[in-house]
Amino acid sequence: MRRIAIINQKGGVGKTTTSANLGAALAEQGRRVVVVDMDPQANASLHLGIEAASHEPSVYSLLTGELGFAASMRETKAPRLSVVPSNIDLSGAELELASAIGRDSLVRDAIEDWSAKHRAEHGEDPADYVIFDCPPSLGLLSINALAAAGEVLITVQTQFLALMGMSKLVEVVQLIRRRLNPELTITGIVPCLYDSRLKLNREVLGEIRKYFPGQVFKNAIRSNVKLAEAPSFGVSILDYASESNGAQDYRLLALEVIEQESRDSTLAHLSPARPIEELAKERGAQQAAVCEQEFSDRDVALQTDADEPAEEDTLVEAEAPAAAHVETVEEAVESAEPQPTEPEAVLEAEAAEPEVELREHVLEPAAPPAVEPAPRAAEPKRDDARPTPPSNAPAPFRRVGAVEDELRILRADDLPQLPPEAFEIPR
Ligand code: ADP
Ligand code: MG
Repeated sequence: MRRIAIINQKGGVGKTTTSANLGAALAEQGRRVVVVDMDPQANASLHLGIEAASHEPSVYSLLTGELGFAASMRETKAPRLSVVPSNIDLSGAELELASAIGRDSLVRDAIEDWSAKHRAEHGEDPADYVIFDCPPSLGLLSINALAAAGEVLITVQTQFLALMGMSKLVEVVQLIRRRLNPELTITGIVPCLYDSRLKLNREVLGEIRKYFPGQVFKNAIRSNVKLAEAPSFGVSILDYASESNGAQDYRLLALEVIEQESRDSTLAHLSPARPIEELAKERGAQQAAVCEQEFSDRDVALQTDADEPAEEDTLVEAEAPAAAHVETVEEAVESAEPQPTEPEAVLEAEAAEPEVELREHVLEPAAPPAVEPAPRAAEPKRDDARPTPPSNAPAPFRRVGAVEDELRILRADDLPQLPPEAFEIPR
């Protein structure tokens, strides 16, 4: 059983998106997966459609010893994918457990109990993967995940300060290894929210690869608006938009993670990964069948409604146009697909643009106009009008001594060297 903690002390770098969707992609490949939501914000639980009210079984019940791991776990709608959810109770846990004995390894103890019992009864591990979605801090909740995990997977956003705090994170992993969990290793860096059209993103990815040689997954997770939309439907990207770039990227990441299974003898019995095109098609067809069923149910409902007395007619007419013209499965799917939202429209517009050079925007404030326009007396005063800075005011973004033709990013060479023993075998 592989236990993977997905971590970065920064927020908004793709940890939860990766926990939920990598978990779903591994489950799609036939692996039995449990996602453990260690973040009180409960985003991973909600993403996978599981909501735990206060006092319901959750990670908090594990930490207090009130329930065991199996009793805290809930199945999602996707086969082979379960969640130990988080809820608001978890937000006080760090303080409440401050003086608890063995507080660093409460989750590990619960998992060990669970797997020992299951092995005794069934002769095998209860799951193939346990994935921990960590909160954006290195406090007690993250430490519990790191103590229970065998591997660490770090997500990074390909933005200009991506590498900031990385040496600290690697230090913490080493500390946990020395004190709590000698097996713990870093098995991969996943670049997230990557946009290859932006020079900044490409350069940062280069620096990340330089800083973590051999540790960065081959396929970065691209920025894809479907990934941001899926959580609000309570399903993974595979169920939300099976043929989107986001689904493709997480399926590719799952393939790379499965490639590493050869190092874990407990997973030797698992079947090889299936081609991702086949999976995407299969899931797409399942979704189409569900849509077709939904529409035919709706047609029946509409016909039944049509026989009802006259006052219902207005309602039927209002609903009818949505379903009436749908004749084929393709049409059904098309009309069931969410309409492009604003960010998507923006992305599409960006795709058509030539490459955006951020340098000008980041480094160089707009030059003041050569000639100050004369104030127009008749113009009404706008509330949000900002005062124009005097022309000799210091430029807000200009770096002192900066090399002008370089992007402003934190570079691998400017950071302390990482100890090689922090990592597993280079990929
Ligand atoms: P973290 O768990 O590290 O705080 P999240 O996974 O919650 O980060 O991601 C932060 C936000 O960015 C969320 O709104 C999420 O939907 C969005 N997001 C994450 N990855 C992507 C991506 N590849 N493309 C588009 N949006 C993304
Ligand atoms: Mg998160």
